[in-house]
Amino acid sequence: MTGAVEKDAASMKPGDGGFRADPEFVAGAVGAVRKLKPDYGHMLGLYEKIFIEQERAKSAPGPAEFAIPREELNVLRREMFPLVRASRFIVDAEAAGKLFTSVCAVLLEGGEGIAETAEAMLEAAKSGALDIKKTLLDFVRAPGQVFDSLHSEMALNREVAQFILFNSVKPFLAGFSRALSSYLDAEGEWEKGYCPVCGSMPELSVLSENGKRSMLCGYCSHKWFSKRVFCPFCENDDHGTLKYFEIEGEEEYRVDVCEKCGSYIKTVDTRKLSRPVYLPLESAATPYIDVKFQEMGYRPGSAASDN
Ligand SMILES: [Zn+2]
Ligand SMILES: [Zn+2]
Repeated sequence: MTGAVEKDAASMKPGDGGFRADPEFVAGAVGAVRKLKPDYGHMLGLYEKIFIEQERAKSAPGPAEFAIPREELNVLRREMFPLVRASRFIVDAEAAGKLFTSVCAVLLEGGEGIAETAEAMLEAAKSGALDIKKTLLDFVRAPGQVFDSLHSEMALNREVAQFILFNSVKPFLAGFSRALSSYLDAEGEWEKGYCPVCGSMPELSVLSENGKRSMLCGYCSHKWFSKRVFCPFCENDDHGTLKYFEIEGEEEYRVDVCEKCGSYIKTVDTRKLSRPVYLPLESAATPYIDVKFQEMGYRPGSAASDN
C-alpha cells in the first residue's frame, strides 16, 4: 500500500496514486471550505476529524490474499461485470472497530439526535451489549438486516447509525477496492454506470484538467474514467435528455441531471478550483445542493445503490 499524498483531484488517477491524504492536507482542504461557508463551520469541523481518522486508518495493509482466477476475470471483462459484489468485500474488523470508537467520539459533539445515537452505540459496544466487530462485518455483508436488528434492540436514528457504521468501514472498503483495482485498466473509459470494482453507483462526478470526466464510487471510493455525456444511473447518453445546472456563486460545482430517469449527480470541476481538493469533502460540504435538486423533483442516483 503506497503512502502517496493526495495533492489534488486533477493529479489523482483512478486506481492510481493519491490513495491516502495527509492529515495536514485534509485540514487545509477543510479549512479553505470553512472560510467560504462559515454557516457550515460546525458540521465541517466534525467531518474534518472523521476524515483524518479515516486517512490514518488507511495505512492498514491491503487484502493481498484475494485473487481473481484468470478464467473468471476473462468472463467479468467480457460481460463488463464488476470485479466483486460489495457484500463480499473483506474488511479488517479489529481496525474498523477502533475507527468506530473514534467516529462515535467525534459525533458526541454533533447536535440534533446525532450525539444520542453515537453515545448509545458507543456505550453498547463498550458494555458488550453490541458486538461491534460482528456488526461491522454484518454491515458489509447485509446492511439492511443490521439496521433491523439494531433498531429492535436500541432506539437509534437509522440515518445516523448508518453514517457511523459506513464511515467506520469506509477506509477498509477503499483499501480492498484499491487492491482489486490492479485488475482493471486504469486509463481506459468504463462504459457502464456502476463502479467497475464493486458495482455500486457513483456519488460524485469530477471534471479534471484534460477535460476528462470521472466518477467516484459511493461505496468503495474507486474513481474511474467515464463517458463525458452520460447518466451513470440509466446509462443514457442522449444529449437531448441530459443537461446540467451551474450553481450560482460556486462555479466549481454543477449538477448533471437526466430527464430520462430523473436522477442527478453533483459534479466538481477541479479546473475551476485553486484551493486543495479532497473529494469526500466536496460531496459532504454541499448538502444544500442536494436539498435544492430534490425539491426540484430529481432524486440522488447514488441512493439507489445501497447494497
Ligand atoms: Zn465501488
Ligand atoms: Zn438517467
